[in-house]
Amino acid sequence: MVAPVSKAIPTSPGGARAYFRNIYDTVRTIAIGMKITLKYCFARTVTVQYPDVAPPIQPRYRGFHWFEAEKCIACDQCAKACPVDCIYIEKSGPRKIDKDSGVAVGGALTRYAIDYSKCMFCALCCDPCPTDCIHMGDNHDLSAYTREDMVVEFTDLAKEGKQTPEPFWMQQPNMPKWAAEKKSRWEERARPVREEMLKALQPSSPAKKETPAAAKE
Ligand code: SF4
Ligand code: SF4
Repeated sequence: MVAPVSKAIPTSPGGARAYFRNIYDTVRTIAIGMKITLKYCFARTVTVQYPDVAPPIQPRYRGFHWFEAEKCIACDQCAKACPVDCIYIEKSGPRKIDKDSGVAVGGALTRYAIDYSKCMFCALCCDPCPTDCIHMGDNHDLSAYTREDMVVEFTDLAKEGKQTPEPFWMQQPNMPKWAAEKKSRWEERARPVREEMLKALQPSSPAKKETPAAAKE
């Protein structure tokens, strides 16, 4: 903060010292401020021409979640850990992991949704998950026209074979190369479990073990 300068030179010796001290402080603080300003005048620009150029995303970035519906047992642990109560889970009956297939069976997972108008991207929902099926993703871009649209229904995404929401512009045919590659990576990750994702939305029972007698037939 710049110290104010007295309007008139005081006549007492102590007052004159304070007067010149004020002038010195004023010049010094302006010089400090200008030094910082000049430093940034010549610094390398960090503006990224998004979306033409990919923004740098760090490996542990906490973006919009990706969710493995087929492994979710609807235990509510993530919802209980969420400090802002923005995870909504509904099921038609108890679910558990089938040890043979590694996917959840039992009642249907009828809803798994996150309200991103509340989410703080704190990742507290991920750690308590007993089946490791909710993760912070690498998508940083999601917009909506209404508050209701900020609620992402992951069970609806699962019907389309998706694990994570996509920004509007990434649903158009023309997109930058980096975005097409990122979208392709999301699709490749979900492709092997698409069938299981659909099954998670319906009631199911454990896969029957093949008995030695049945295997011989
Ligand atoms: S990231 Fe944090 S705020 Fe967002 S859903 Fe998970 S626990 Fe809740
Ligand atoms: S995401 Fe994990 S913690 Fe949350 S309900 Fe499903 S299994 Fe439980």
